[in-house]
Amino acid sequence: MSIQTLPAPRVQFGAGVRWTVQDELQRIGGTRALVLSTPHQSDAAMRIAETLEPLAAGVYARAQMHTPVHITEDAVAYLKTIQADCIVSIGGGSTTGLGKAIVHRTGVAHVTIPTTYAGSEATPILGQTENGAKTTLSDPRVVPDVVLYDPELIVSLPVEMTVTSALNAIAHAAEALYAPNRTPDSDALATQGMACFARYLPDVIADPANLKARQETQRGAYACGAVLGQVGMALHHKLCHTLGGAFDLPHAATHAIILPHAISYNSRAARVELGPVCEIFEAETPGLALHNFAVACGAPLALRDLGVTLEQLDDAADLATQKPYPNPARVTRDGIRHLLEAAWSGAPPQN
Ligand code: NAD
Repeated sequence: MSIQTLPAPRVQFGAGVRWTVQDELQRIGGTRALVLSTPHQSDAAMRIAETLEPLAAGVYARAQMHTPVHITEDAVAYLKTIQADCIVSIGGGSTTGLGKAIVHRTGVAHVTIPTTYAGSEATPILGQTENGAKTTLSDPRVVPDVVLYDPELIVSLPVEMTVTSALNAIAHAAEALYAPNRTPDSDALATQGMACFARYLPDVIADPANLKARQETQRGAYACGAVLGQVGMALHHKLCHTLGGAFDLPHAATHAIILPHAISYNSRAARVELGPVCEIFEAETPGLALHNFAVACGAPLALRDLGVTLEQLDDAADLATQKPYPNPARVTRDGIRHLLEAAWSGAPPQN
């Protein structure tokens, strides 16, 4: 496996950088823009559309988690009806995902304004769901042309989601450290991303409107997203994908709960590689380091609090071990069942 050479988006950070969206669109040749969001962020999408006048051609505020194909097809039909030649997505990974799915089908230009820490804007990965099944593809063309990180737009992210979204980002970086195709550059990016969250997430929790801390955590999100796009993921992402798909769990909260346990599972097999996790989050073992950080941030700790039942863990363990995949520690059905039970109860991981 070799590292992918990806088209890098143009990335801008700064309070108020969203007001440059019209200039950015014109710079990449956009003349009629479709603005995307979830229903929850339709007001934010309307404000972006007003900013874009006279370039705004319409707003499509129906993005959903896991990028359902029927929504994408509906959005593409609308894009064609209004003759838009570019899109602006404002929101978390769900909205960025809809934007990427539209680009995958039409090739239009894409400016994205992320409002969570998910990091999808930095990757060529597109996950889509159809008839209850999630598939993932990689297409360098879906990396957005421009990413505008405006800390003023992320202050509205509730603290609980701020924390789970940050742990979702940290998960990309932690697994990148032991990826078979990691490089010194990917290690540096992963370490940099985690350090941003370790240093500034507590400040964000203390004052969610702290723009300096929000901006630094957005830098962390970009680093973690970029590393997700560069190297392969393993057990942690496999488990989250499986649990999310099987039980329709919230994406970021599932990552937050599984992360310390998956990293603990791999801690002996990848002791040296996971060293930066211990250093950055200040504990002797990486699973405990991440658990302690999650506790200090008030993160959800137990799958049972997401409505998962003890009986469902058997199915989840079966599903997660059906097909082999690269992972530092050997993946066994019993080992995974044990891991899931610890994550279900919220007990601290062993290592
Ligand atoms: P999300 O985009 O689903 O957002 C969750 C909710 O929070 C939505 O209602 C959204 O409108 C709202 N929200 C977002 N930002 C807000 C803000 N600043 N203020 C108030 N409300 C806000 O959540 P997410 O965790 O960012 O994204 C999850 C999705 O992203 C999943 O489908 C996941 O598979 C995908 N994802 C993809 C990649 C990739 O590289 N392809 C990477 C990470 C995540």
